[in-house]
Amino acid sequence: MLRSPYITLLFVSLFLVCGEKPLKTSQTDLYLGLDKTSYLTGKFNSPGPLAPVILEETGKDHFLRPDVKKALLQMVNDFEDSKPSTYKQHIFLVSSFRNFSHQKGIWESKYTGKKVMRVPIKGKSPEEITNLILEFSSAPGTSRHHWGTDFDINALDNAYFEENGKGKILYDWLKQNANKYGFCQPYSRLSTRNNKGYQEEKWHWSYAPISNQLTKEWVKGFGSGEIQLAGSFLGADVLGDRALDFVRSINPECEKIQNPSL
Ligand SMILES: [Zn+2]
Repeated sequence: MLRSPYITLLFVSLFLVCGEKPLKTSQTDLYLGLDKTSYLTGKFNSPGPLAPVILEETGKDHFLRPDVKKALLQMVNDFEDSKPSTYKQHIFLVSSFRNFSHQKGIWESKYTGKKVMRVPIKGKSPEEITNLILEFSSAPGTSRHHWGTDFDINALDNAYFEENGKGKILYDWLKQNANKYGFCQPYSRLSTRNNKGYQEEKWHWSYAPISNQLTKEWVKGFGSGEIQLAGSFLGADVLGDRALDFVRSINPECEKIQNPSL
């Protein structure tokens, strides 16, 4: 009779151990051992916890999270195996991890007019200049490129991926298959995102199982004041709370990807 409580206890313990399957990446893994706010705002340098990714022999070094690199390499290999033999385009990286200071450089070169945008900034108010930059560039601290989950491929030009573009076959394949590897196009057509956020970017892809969680954490951190942008780059005060809309306005298809099926 003495044995039964022990047996019950054994079964309860086994259930607790085996039944407790973590559905989400643990917090330490989510930030790869770095401080949460630093990670979310890209205040760390590569490689740090990131892995180098080279998809072209002549390409420069790119850095992504190790889990994202693994999924990307699998997707690239499968694309190479399944594409028509006459199709010459490969998937390669144009941009990947960018830290806070890199993004600040991009942002401020546009803000000061050093880098020309579609409309000259002369005579424009800080508000108008900020809006122009936000068509395609994120403010430092708000970019998905800070997370090592997101990257740009082949050409920063939607036409490349469209009808008569060299990347059309590649893009159609990605639309059909990328989600099986965990990837989505976060900046889909504006109409799919309540006409909010950045313009469509057919070149920008994201590893949703991780970036979905990071998006939520960023929004929470901004709301609680843990993430502070004021004073950290030119025009930060003009941007204000609008940063939130840009971080949140993501293709709803990304949200549906919890775990890759391959
Ligand atoms: Zn991008």
